[in-house]
Amino acid sequence: MNRYGDTPLGMVESALEFVRICEDHGFYNIVLSMKASNPKVMVQAYRLLVNKMIEENMNYPLHLGVTEAGDGEDGRIKSSAGIGTLLEDGLGDTIRVSLTEEPEFELPVCKRLVRRYSLRSDEVKQEKPIPEITDYPVDPFTYNRRLTLEVDKIGGGHVPVVFATAEKDMLSSPEYLRKIGYKYSAELDKWEISDYAADFIYLGSSDINYALPGTLGKVFDYSYWITLNDKSDSFPLFTAQQYITAERKSFRINFLEITTDELYQLADEISRDRFCVIILKTNRSHAMADIRRALVELINRDVPVPVIIKRTYSKLDVEDLMLYSATDFGGLLTDGLGDGIWLESDEVSTDRLNQISFGILQATRTRISKTEYISCPSCGRTQFDLQKTTAMIKEKTSHLKGVKIAIMGCIVNGPGEMADADYGFVGSGPGWVSLYRGKEVIKRGIPYNDALDELISLMKDDGVWQEQ
Ligand code: SF4
Repeated sequence: MNRYGDTPLGMVESALEFVRICEDHGFYNIVLSMKASNPKVMVQAYRLLVNKMIEENMNYPLHLGVTEAGDGEDGRIKSSAGIGTLLEDGLGDTIRVSLTEEPEFELPVCKRLVRRYSLRSDEVKQEKPIPEITDYPVDPFTYNRRLTLEVDKIGGGHVPVVFATAEKDMLSSPEYLRKIGYKYSAELDKWEISDYAADFIYLGSSDINYALPGTLGKVFDYSYWITLNDKSDSFPLFTAQQYITAERKSFRINFLEITTDELYQLADEISRDRFCVIILKTNRSHAMADIRRALVELINRDVPVPVIIKRTYSKLDVEDLMLYSATDFGGLLTDGLGDGIWLESDEVSTDRLNQISFGILQATRTRISKTEYISCPSCGRTQFDLQKTTAMIKEKTSHLKGVKIAIMGCIVNGPGEMADADYGFVGSGPGWVSLYRGKEVIKRGIPYNDALDELISLMKDDGVWQEQ
């Protein structure tokens, strides 16, 4: 760690140092874990560990986890983005989902995550195999976003966009657009746009009968779009065949919805299309790997067209959908692949899909729309009620978009495990708290009851605080 710092390489070298000591003493009964609170760092660290183990002829099993993942939906999404990505890569022998909740809530999440793989090999055997890769241009140990053209507000340097499929009630009343982050005030005739407002709404072949906010693009099936008199605020969605034969296209964005297999055939044809955005979907059950393979093909063929990844889940309840979509999208976004996400389901409502989409982008740190909390699961060392304290801190700080706050039960492990946080609220003794700015302790020995006010005052001094 002294030589490589608090990085994936530092974590790996530190672990291997101890493994070598164990081996020198003839002890091989080892399982290795590279947990971090940031899923991107955790994924890179495990992959690097495996890579180094192969070089050194080691093959110890791996225990996977995202440490201090927090609670609720955020904790589950963050855990799936990290653990699920590695399981999809074929790495991992045991897992733990670490939640700031009662311990009995962790195991059901683990079971759901691994259950997905119990049938996977049978399904894969019946499908057309994913084409093999000989040249793999994505560095699995470092985050680099795939370079793409900027098409309107998609790709280039833009954060990944979010697509939503319209529900019927949205067509007739602006009231229902709150499900995707837009609150309409009839009194003021104004839109309030939240940090988790979708960027595009797919309407198929039905138009909305009121004016939408300018930040929300309308997407229609091409066959309907071509009939519109005013096409200025709407975009066509083409099938592969329509795209090749279309008489007319948009001069802003043309969405092309294709499968991974269609992409291999069309890639060269669209390679220099300045207005094309691919909506990429797959029919294969090992979806993350199949989509990753297709995106690699675009890189290798030098096709800089932005790609929105679309997944349609059926027969999944909201919990499974959350975990599996965080796995599928998370695995791609942590590798810098994908310029947007589109999540569909017949069983799960649009507002939940929208929340999950923004949750995945937050967990992969590709688009920040809320405060990030890193909180430990608590244990025998915990110096205060973790769940109550986390809820209390969230209530006062959840409007601080982009700020990372750690809530850790003890000073023994807390500071080391919140490496990624901007601020730390750490139990230093029964009824006592220490406050951190990054890794530096700023205030020690604060009575628990005063600690939240002190944290807010520290943020005010730093110019980070905003009134709600
Ligand atoms: S109380 Fe300390 S040791 Fe226990 S889980 Fe929290 S940070 Fe880890």
